[in-house]
Amino acid sequence: MTFQKQETPDIRFVDWGVANNFGDYIEIHKDLPKYPELYKPILKHELRHTKKLFTVEELKMDVTPSGAKLWKLMGFCLIRPKTWIQFLPIYWQRGKGFIWDLNMIIVYTFAVLFLGGIFLWLL
Ligand SMILES: [Zn+2]
Repeated sequence: MTFQKQETPDIRFVDWGVANNFGDYIEIHKDLPKYPELYKPILKHELRHTKKLFTVEELKMDVTPSGAKLWKLMGFCLIRPKTWIQFLPIYWQRGKGFIWDLNMIIVYTFAVLFLGGIFLWLL
């Protein structure tokens, strides 16, 4: 079918995480727009996520550095501990229950397997 509803989702500013696309809306940390050099590429990144559960393109997009300046983003997160939940593959949020990021789970699984492999190899 050629029918495709492609509208810009609502943006909700919150004080946790960095940015998450929930399909109908995007949650973005309320302080992020103060840093346009971070806000613009991150918003662009989130808008590229589809409602599909998983696509290889999106996994690639999540593991390759985007336009956001990594060091600046790390600095942004370092002084805001509530943004750290962004880097958890699964977390719990009041009213929403468990929120899980499939791409993060895949990345962490590979990291654990890789490090586990090195560990076993060293034994
Ligand atoms: Zn992403």
